[in-house]
Amino acid sequence: MATRKKTAKKAARKAASTKGPKYVYTWGNGKADGHGKMKELLGGKGANLAEMTLIGLPVPAGFTITTEVCTYYYAHKRTYPSTLRAQMEAGIANMEKIMGYKFGDSEGFPLLVAVRSGARDSMPGMMDTVLNLGLNDKTVEALSKATDNERFAWDCYRRFIQMYGDVVLGVQKREGEDHEPFEEVIESFKHETYGKDIVDSDLTAEDNKELVARFKKLVKDRTGQGFPEDPWEQLEGAAGAVFSSWMNDRAIVYRRKYGIPAAWGTAVNVQAMVFGNTGTNSGSGVAFTRNPANGENELYGEFLVNAQGEDVVAGVRTPDPVSGMEQALPQAYKDLLKVRKILEKHFTDVQDVEFTIQDGKLFMLQTRNGKRTAAAALKFSMDMNKEKLIDWQTAVLRNPADQLDQLLAPVFDAAELKKTPEIAKGLPAGPGAASGKIYLNADRAAAAANKGEVVLLVRVETSPEDLRGMIAAEGILTSRGGVSSHAALVARQMGKVCICGASGIEIDYDKKTVKAGGQSFKEGDYLSIDGTTGIVYGGQVATEPSEIITGLINGKKSSQNTEKFQHFVQLMDWCAKATRMGVRTNADTPEQVKTAVAFGAEGIGLTRTEHMFFEGDRIDAMREMILADNETNRRKALKKLLPHQRKDFFGIFKALEGKPATIRLLDPPLHEFLPHTKEQQLDLANKIGIPVETIMQRVHELHEFNPMLGHRGCRLAISYPEIAEMQAQAIFEAAAQCVKKGIEVKPEVMVPLVGYARELELQVEIIHRIAAEVKEKKGVEFDYLVGTMIEVPRGAVTADEIAAHAQFFSFGTNDLTQTALGVSRDDMGSFLNSYTENDIYPRNPFASLDTTGVGQLMEIAAAKGREVRPDIKLGICGEHGGDPDSVKFCHKLGLAYVSCSPYRVPVARLAAAHAAINDGSAPKAAKKATKKKSAKKAAKRAKK
Ligand code: ADP
Ligand code: MG
Ligand code: MG
Repeated sequence: MATRKKTAKKAARKAASTKGPKYVYTWGNGKADGHGKMKELLGGKGANLAEMTLIGLPVPAGFTITTEVCTYYYAHKRTYPSTLRAQMEAGIANMEKIMGYKFGDSEGFPLLVAVRSGARDSMPGMMDTVLNLGLNDKTVEALSKATDNERFAWDCYRRFIQMYGDVVLGVQKREGEDHEPFEEVIESFKHETYGKDIVDSDLTAEDNKELVARFKKLVKDRTGQGFPEDPWEQLEGAAGAVFSSWMNDRAIVYRRKYGIPAAWGTAVNVQAMVFGNTGTNSGSGVAFTRNPANGENELYGEFLVNAQGEDVVAGVRTPDPVSGMEQALPQAYKDLLKVRKILEKHFTDVQDVEFTIQDGKLFMLQTRNGKRTAAAALKFSMDMNKEKLIDWQTAVLRNPADQLDQLLAPVFDAAELKKTPEIAKGLPAGPGAASGKIYLNADRAAAAANKGEVVLLVRVETSPEDLRGMIAAEGILTSRGGVSSHAALVARQMGKVCICGASGIEIDYDKKTVKAGGQSFKEGDYLSIDGTTGIVYGGQVATEPSEIITGLINGKKSSQNTEKFQHFVQLMDWCAKATRMGVRTNADTPEQVKTAVAFGAEGIGLTRTEHMFFEGDRIDAMREMILADNETNRRKALKKLLPHQRKDFFGIFKALEGKPATIRLLDPPLHEFLPHTKEQQLDLANKIGIPVETIMQRVHELHEFNPMLGHRGCRLAISYPEIAEMQAQAIFEAAAQCVKKGIEVKPEVMVPLVGYARELELQVEIIHRIAAEVKEKKGVEFDYLVGTMIEVPRGAVTADEIAAHAQFFSFGTNDLTQTALGVSRDDMGSFLNSYTENDIYPRNPFASLDTTGVGQLMEIAAAKGREVRPDIKLGICGEHGGDPDSVKFCHKLGLAYVSCSPYRVPVARLAAAHAAINDGSAPKAAKKATKKKSAKKAAKRAKK
């Protein structure tokens, strides 16, 4: 008997394998064809449903149609592989066996299924789910009889026709219509019958029957066809709708924003239904295993009694906090807490789960890594390390570099806040403080933000159409929906301040007003929202720096005692342990230096000396220098500038306390310093006693057609060597002063815009000569370096020749990008959009390094430089030094440091640590903190 069974099985397997590729992966009853690591083939949802099944969690049986079918579908004029239907039939048969029901059964309990999309990464709001599939005029009666619950059966049927009609048959809102057509039908039915709005769960069996009839008529009117009665026709239609939704406009826009390739495709999951709408002993919910807003170690989410899952996320009924389940469904709540532990231990990360309770029994319908704010990510990572779920390297990786600046974002000024009235309260969905002018629609919000206004987007609820406005807004406020609504999800992902479900505010889209707390606000009026507490304030409130800033920079004790501060410090310590690439800062003042050093900067990567010429009356001496028509007069003016520069450098050296400072010699074209209006010119003429005509004449002479490529950088000091002499003298005299006072100094003098070795050679001669003179005159010794920026392509490709004169290179990637791309950064506004939309620029090349083009120039320069001078120090000082992707590239290139603005320093440190941990160059953990069992082992265990 046993052998016969075995051979039969073998034969079946053989038959299946000769039928070609496996398109359907089943799960159920502790067994699964797939597992959690198969996200590419099964999509995120399908892979994790298999994984949860394997670790013994209660998951309704089902199967996944692979992403390969999606690819096939688009490659073959929207048709399916010939073997798919047979494999799906086997999948349904497996579910029937496990559940004990039959698909399309019109006698006993019919097997109903959910058809669910599932891309590799979840794409919120992009794909639609159809529940209760398999119902028709006959099976609904069977369901009603089998459950002895007529209201429930017809509730399911009504929902099914609505979802299927919308998603599969395309019965949707048309141009100019205000409401979804099905909602319109329900609404008018309720008012006709009850004279008011009632909740859907209060509709009787008879009501639902009537609605089913009206829905079917609506479908017929809109599509010209009857509603499909055959369950298999329904199933194939729904699967097809999921595959075609992969190419709908919203999905395409979303993929473009997050850089998801169209070729990935989506999977389709077909799963046995469990019912949260059988009565008050049932319900549906969503939850995070920890609080994704602030990171607290508590189950966080919401649920609705007597509801199917879509109700919770749709924002139609405002759900209860999940803790309320303890009262309403105590056993299921206990089970859910157990599942929470199991999931976190298994996935070693915070999970975002969807679940349904049917007659008191808990079923898990989805799990994935939860999206989180930066504050929550920080706390999760530290807590989970303490709980020994993850090692420190993983903890570092759990903090996204591009989110870190959320932690540095301002909070409300406490004194001002007290004076501003609280006008409403909602759910805290995205922490932080935001104060801005309100706009009630996405387009107007985006337009106002474009004009430079700080904007709050205020909506009843948001949908993917509002994305533009949400991106533009400083904060988002909705009057409806919970912490898992669209607004909350998107806000968390984008790090926006957000309050949801502030039901106390009344939004009038037509009048463009918001009423709350007895006041009325028009578009353009100020509101303030605290996304950490959920409180809405009527008016503008100033903001103040976060405790990380006040703790680090001002040394405020009360800030330093906070957990958040200490976690932040720990994170930065781990970053230092992970990487040898340093982070420096671009700073021109002692203040900026102090800030950057507090954030962990190891020195200055770029001081722009020209910024020092604008202060006070220095600009007059500068102008005098520029206006001078001979060397003697020029030297006279430069002499006036010398003490100012020396003082500035001294201040910077002192603030650095021995850390290195790269100082760039004068870079911009001289005309930038000259007065351009008639008034300014007259004023200057009076001040320095020369005719205004002379000034006008000089301004005219200095005018350049393309200043970026004109008389600037080292070209200035080639024409006027005395400028370089004065600057070198100021630097070295300041250094000498420091030495005398016992302050350590490490000046690194940097020559800008070098394309020819000879340019640098001439400058280096001057710098060394002046250094020797200063040392001699002041009778002190100090070390210094001389190097150059690599910021024009000729400099990059002749870097070997240049390296003969340079002790260091610093990649000036702003100018290098401008000159390599032949694009002026200030003039690209007019075409940047079309270039990103047409996938020419993957991202703005001035924000994120063009690694394939500009990056190659850097690689060439690095290699050639090292050839001639193996110990040459390489760094980067363009804006890219603070961009995580660019930092990763710099790590690969083996740069000694990246340099960025003071407030980007922590971001760059974190990005550098990620790069090192990801490519294995960071120190490894002594032993694995987690004993992760492979899915296979878990499967074996589950079988036993
Ligand atoms: P999304 O990707 O938009 O979250 P899902 O496929 O997860 O879509 O489905 C949305 C909701 O539908 C789920 O949260 C769940 O409540 C409900 N749902 C999905 N599958 C089932 C099922 N098998 N039984 C009952 N409800 C389900
Ligand atoms: Mg879901
Ligand atoms: Mg430059």
